[in-house]
Amino acid sequence: MEYTGPLEKMQTHLATTVTYYLSLGNDLLKMNDLLGKSLSFEDLQQYTCFCGQIVPKVFRQNFCYDCFFTKPEAGEAVFNPEKSKAHLGEADRDLAYEQSYQLQSHVVYLAQSGGVKVGVTRAAQLPTRWIDQGASEAIVLAKTTNRYEAGQIEVFLKNHFSDKTVWQRMLKNESDGADLLREKERAIALLPKELSVFVTGDQEVVRLQYPVSSWPTKTKSIKIEKEGKFRGVLTGIRGQYLIFDDAFVMNVRSQEGRWVRLHW
Ligand SMILES: [Zn+2]
Repeated sequence: MEYTGPLEKMQTHLATTVTYYLSLGNDLLKMNDLLGKSLSFEDLQQYTCFCGQIVPKVFRQNFCYDCFFTKPEAGEAVFNPEKSKAHLGEADRDLAYEQSYQLQSHVVYLAQSGGVKVGVTRAAQLPTRWIDQGASEAIVLAKTTNRYEAGQIEVFLKNHFSDKTVWQRMLKNESDGADLLREKERAIALLPKELSVFVTGDQEVVRLQYPVSSWPTKTKSIKIEKEGKFRGVLTGIRGQYLIFDDAFVMNVRSQEGRWVRLHW
């Protein structure tokens, strides 16, 4: 079997175990079915930018330099929710886009992904966001009416919780063993009144299981652009990572837009 196209963030479906799909060209590959197979990736030395143009290089994620500095999809509030301004009627790059993106229900959550972290996402992005981060457990802490408010809560809590996924620990299935219900109580107690009004009564800890046959004990991250070619037996998928034998791991999302040929 052989497929060619630009890498895209894997699509996911939450069942007992998360199901992953990789879109490549005109095909959608169910990655769970490829576990145990020896997969070969070949780099095709070009990117498709988010704007559809084929470019030799991207700047950040799948944005070419121009797109990264001009498109509202790469605006400041996308990466830093607390910098949102649409609720003030102020434009960063395109007010209409920013209003539709920022002025919608957002969630602040706590997740276990190699350690407890705090994060922000649009409410409509759950549980996708948790899966993309490879969380084993997550709980909703607060629900806000816009991105700015959620960003304020996250910034405040960054003094007390990590806001980063420790991907090496996540991929080795390590955890700090924290009880998310207790962590939620701790977060609530820390929040000042103007932010604690957004706290929800959610007591449900969502548990996520990934299709992994054996966890690596160490991790060696590979980029197809650097390797040129890579071949490995797929042993698992978690977050946006493909896990191979011999501790190799490949972050699909961070290579979005890069053209590859995949065959097995
Ligand atoms: Zn572009």
